[in-house]
Amino acid sequence: MRPFLIERASTEQQAVSIAARVAGSDLAADRPFQFLAGGTTLIDLMKLDVMRPATLIDVNGIRTPEVSSISLENGVLRLGSLVRMAHAADHNAIKSQFPVIAESLALAASAQLRNMASLGGNALQRTRCPYFRDFSYRRCNKRVPGSGCSAMDGVNRLHAVLGVSNDCIAAYPGDFSVALIALDATVEIAGPNGTSKRPFADLHRAPGATPQIETTLAPGDFITTFVIPATPYARRSRYVKVRDRQSYEFALASAAIVLDMDGGIVREARIALGGVATTPWRARDAEAALKGRRLDETTAQAAAEIAFNGASAREHNAFKIPLGKATVVRALLETAALGIAT
Ligand code: SF4
Repeated sequence: MRPFLIERASTEQQAVSIAARVAGSDLAADRPFQFLAGGTTLIDLMKLDVMRPATLIDVNGIRTPEVSSISLENGVLRLGSLVRMAHAADHNAIKSQFPVIAESLALAASAQLRNMASLGGNALQRTRCPYFRDFSYRRCNKRVPGSGCSAMDGVNRLHAVLGVSNDCIAAYPGDFSVALIALDATVEIAGPNGTSKRPFADLHRAPGATPQIETTLAPGDFITTFVIPATPYARRSRYVKVRDRQSYEFALASAAIVLDMDGGIVREARIALGGVATTPWRARDAEAALKGRRLDETTAQAAAEIAFNGASAREHNAFKIPLGKATVVRALLETAALGIAT
């Protein structure tokens, strides 16, 4: 691991101002800073020499409610970005009123990692593409822009089939973000120019021609809070994750479903996909196809087909298309069967 400096912040404003100072120094010119929360991805990538921050800004001392607490008031759930995954997964109000969030967190990583990892860090976690994480592979546009992509003609079983580009097919690895995008969450940000907010759906960027740029955050932007509307039908939600083993594994395919039902008829459906796309993926056309329809195996299958329109597979990951469709069908039917009055 390369040497680095560490600075500590006790407020989000202090974190942002340290970032602005560090970004302006010569030291950071080619080795920028990183915010350090749980560090469960960052430290791994620093050991692998994939990330080389000159300065870590330790934000774990920030205790402001915006950043460090969970609240449910006035029909809004607010999740601080430094809340640990395990804490949110085990929160009674989240389990009862937003099961899709609790399930997405409980099915992620391992118990040890969930105790350590923050919600903000989890949302911003980086791809598990093995060519990105192994510095001995020269071609990786995400790690070295313009170098090529080793996964295109390499082993690409775990890679994405939706949202891919000619420059990168890396799958977004997270679960929590898939739940957030299904719930129409908003993200609040402290940055060099003050505070701002945007739809969570606008946070992650598809790779396009610049896969090294993964989010719409500007340098020095610090996520403070995830804000989720507490609609009554958020209680009718599920996260279904399919993976190679039942613990401590990333999704081959996953689906976050939220349903507003009138008897067996769908008033509104939210469908988001994980494990199959380059970003947390909302399947809006599939949602529209269900609106006003009776939800059964036939309509669920039709929605799943639509969700994967435009999917593009490589040599080893074509199985993700039928697997992803089957995951959507299962998740829709299981969510519809939940015994919940809304
Ligand atoms: Fe790099 Fe993306 Fe290609 Fe993986 S898929 S090698 S992250 S450019």
